[in-house]
Amino acid sequence: MDIIDSRYGWEDRPETATFWQALGEEVAILGLYWGGSWESFRGYAHVQFYDNDRLAEIRRLHGL
Ligand SMILES: [Zn+2]
Repeated sequence: MDIIDSRYGWEDRPETATFWQALGEEVAILGLYWGGSWESFRGYAHVQFYDNDRLAEIRRLHGL
């Protein structure tokens, strides 16, 4: 899922840093995975239940 603030959308600007940081902290507390911590691409709005390796395994197991 993507979680955004309607003022900022998906943008990465200096004024959005506090919002993204708070989102990342809450996601960690919940034990979820946050796209803002990815190395290759920062998906600040993105939150998912499984890490990317697990998602790839699920896709493989189900022929997706
Ligand atoms: Zn997303």
